[in-house]
Amino acid sequence: MGKKKKPKNKRPSKKWEKYKVEAGKLVKAKTCPRCRIHFLADHKDRWYCGNCHYLEVKK
Ligand SMILES: [Zn+2]
Repeated sequence: MGKKKKPKNKRPSKKWEKYKVEAGKLVKAKTCPRCRIHFLADHKDRWYCGNCHYLEVKK
């Protein structure tokens, strides 16, 4: 009784951690077309979603 479920958000994926809203300003980032809530990690020549493994090749 009195048990609380603690959300496991202590270690968010660093793949998209750097892409977020900072001080009300949206940092340039692409959102995943599948998840929509996740940002795509900016790689050298591709965008990658760490959540659903969506991959988009840069042109
Ligand atoms: Zn995704």
